[in-house]
Amino acid sequence: MLYDCIKNIQALLYPPRCLLCGQAGEHGLDLCRGCRIDLPWQGHRCERCGAAMPGQGRVCGPCLRKPPPVSRSLIPFAYRAPLDGLILGMKFSDRLAAAALLGQLLARTARQEGVALPDALLPVPMHPHRLRERGYNQAHELARVIARELQLPVFPELARRVRHTTMQSRLDGRARRHNLRDAFDLGGQTLPSHVVIVDDVVTTGSTVNELAACLLRGGAERVDVWACARAR
Ligand SMILES: [Zn+2]
Ligand SMILES: [Zn+2]
Repeated sequence: MLYDCIKNIQALLYPPRCLLCGQAGEHGLDLCRGCRIDLPWQGHRCERCGAAMPGQGRVCGPCLRKPPPVSRSLIPFAYRAPLDGLILGMKFSDRLAAAALLGQLLARTARQEGVALPDALLPVPMHPHRLRERGYNQAHELARVIARELQLPVFPELARRVRHTTMQSRLDGRARRHNLRDAFDLGGQTLPSHVVIVDDVVTTGSTVNELAACLLRGGAERVDVWACARAR
């Protein structure tokens, strides 16, 4: 509530201004028309894994051969400039403004594509040690913005990270999966039937798929992923 109130006062004092070039923003976003068009939109994507793919098919070959635990991935952007800068901004500087813009873009894409809205948003949990070092979880900040835009509840406590996994980006695919085994704990609570996992960047998908598999084992019926960008 307080956050909404501060946002409203900010909007009056500071009209939307593009975070990328400084010109006036449009549609209430801190993003101008030119920079919005220039963002690395992924175009046609696989519904299951969110990877860009040619043609009109709904699901890519690898997902057809081996359907992943995630039912639907909404990942509007490729992890390229200038979007990577916004995501890094969310981690290091200008944090709230970058998280607000990215969360608003994700929420608007979800609305435009008419994806099914979940019972709960779950930001990918961070291990408590890492959270203490950094002081915040950027996936949680994104989820908070999406929740406000789409009137959805955020349940960050649905899953905990129980093992301090090695930085995923330093490992190859098989090592990542091994690194993530038993990385999450659900704490025995009753899960909402449809959960959307929120993350900033999806790389191989191993983290979100491991978390999705864990939620499905725990009784969730459907798990989707909404993330800003897909890195390859
Ligand atoms: Zn701009
Ligand atoms: Zn796919």
